[in-house]
Amino acid sequence: MLKSLAKYIKEAEEKSVAIGHFNISNLEALHGIYNAAKKLNLPVIIGVSEGEEEFVGKEEAVALVKTLRERDHYPIFLNADHHYSFESVKEALDAGYDSAIIDAVKLPIKENIALTKKCVDYARELSTKTSHDIIIEGELGFIGQSSKILDKIPEGVSEASMTTPEDAKHFVEATGVDMLAPSIGNVHGMIQGGNPRLDIERIKNIRQACGVPLVLHGGSGISDEDFKNAIKAGISIIHINTEIRVAYRDAIKKFIDENPNEVAPYNFLKTGVEAVEKVVESRLKLFNNL
Ligand SMILES: [Zn+2]
Repeated sequence: MLKSLAKYIKEAEEKSVAIGHFNISNLEALHGIYNAAKKLNLPVIIGVSEGEEEFVGKEEAVALVKTLRERDHYPIFLNADHHYSFESVKEALDAGYDSAIIDAVKLPIKENIALTKKCVDYARELSTKTSHDIIIEGELGFIGQSSKILDKIPEGVSEASMTTPEDAKHFVEATGVDMLAPSIGNVHGMIQGGNPRLDIERIKNIRQACGVPLVLHGGSGISDEDFKNAIKAGISIIHINTEIRVAYRDAIKKFIDENPNEVAPYNFLKTGVEAVEKVVESRLKLFNNL
């Protein structure tokens, strides 16, 4: 029997490493990510945001990940990344996702807590009914919303929007979430000229105060040193999206520019698979001290 995602997260924390979370919009990205994880024999989480899900399909995403997991008996999991309503979380969980992120940071804190708790309650109920361990992650503190290249820090992200240990403790107690994504200097997307530094001390204090594993979003563009220190301070999962999107797009564009007569998708898309694999491998090595 494969261990549950919760067990892998616990093990990662004990070993002071982080599990990589990578988003997909298609089969090529999935293959690139999976090739890299398998090569290093590491558990991996596939993320599908609401936008990505609309393109891939909920049931299709579940079928793809489940196929690899069952065929190869491999710890690959599927997460509903940044879902913004109870309905969309419920639909993903009903379709068979292993975890979901309810992102209600744009709402007033009371409403964020109420909505997050509703998702937690539903996940618990479904876990019992299906004997499938489901994890819910909550979000506290704004870090921007887009996985693309930005020319400046997104509006609304500042020191004031960072999560405090007290708020994190209250939020986790009030909602019962399994994991928390705090705002600790990270932003979604890659900022030209480099992303801001992480507040390592804050990560440590939040982890101690809230009592659940922490997730670092917006991993693209963060320095290697910050990653290492963040993991030591209590980060157990790291999200990378923009960086693999850029690698995928650039590799295919280069190949098509150089081979304008190539029309077989498996030839030009293969370069995208390889580019994703390369980025994922390097990130996983870093997150696992390899
Ligand atoms: Zn995110």
